[in-house]
Amino acid sequence: MTTPRRPLLAGNWKMHGTRAEALSLVEGLLGRLQGQLASGTREVLVAPPFTALDAVARLAAGTSLRVAAQNCFHEARGAYTGEISPAMIADLGVSHVILGHSERREIFGEDDAQIRRKLEAALAQGLGVILCVGETLAQRDGGHTVAVVEGQTRAALEGLALARPDQVTLAYEPIWAIGTGRVASPAQAQEVHAALRACVGRLGQPAKQMRILYGGSVKPDNVDGLMAQADIDGALVGGASLEVEAFARIVEFEA
Ligand code: PEP
Repeated sequence: MTTPRRPLLAGNWKMHGTRAEALSLVEGLLGRLQGQLASGTREVLVAPPFTALDAVARLAAGTSLRVAAQNCFHEARGAYTGEISPAMIADLGVSHVILGHSERREIFGEDDAQIRRKLEAALAQGLGVILCVGETLAQRDGGHTVAVVEGQTRAALEGLALARPDQVTLAYEPIWAIGTGRVASPAQAQEVHAALRACVGRLGQPAKQMRILYGGSVKPDNVDGLMAQADIDGALVGGASLEVEAFARIVEFEA
């Protein structure tokens, strides 16, 4: 029997790995996590770069390992050099896409309106979406954390008709904790997750069923404390997802 919010442990590989390296990492994970994947008590997902998506999706086919893209465009086809549509991603047998990652927002200038268009296009194509929200250090220091993440969440979810609660997973990723080794404390993360869950409810979305992941320097030595929090339903992991043993220990969190 699975809980209403089955823990999701997701690895965001960012711009790392040739196809050979990606396959070797997935082979390692499939071997190391065989029992965990078969049990189905936790959902495990990897998000390789676009160039390795096809190969990784083929290797993961027939297992319960989920595969995600790290981004998509909102149009289905057309003269959009360099872009990839949700249909192209779904065509690979890939089930999810990460949207609104702070690196997309900050480095590539994606705004809430663009992310909303991408979200709708991805959902229309049947992809599950991991939607990232998070504040900068200056916003946190200014006491604006909840207002910022609620604003990003509202822009993405307000008025959205979801067929199933698991179509969207939120990921709270404080920008000051991503790739910095500086992790939010379990209490800091829980406070924002509880606020986000209340916000999701006010938006008329299925707050009790929607998963909210924490992301930002999640490692084997801090995952247990984070996962013990009532409103933390999983982790979005960058650096530590590139090593089989580290990511496997995160999947095997003890809470
Ligand atoms: C991320 O990129 O989503 C992330 C959380 O990275 P890291 O775990 O390396 O901080």
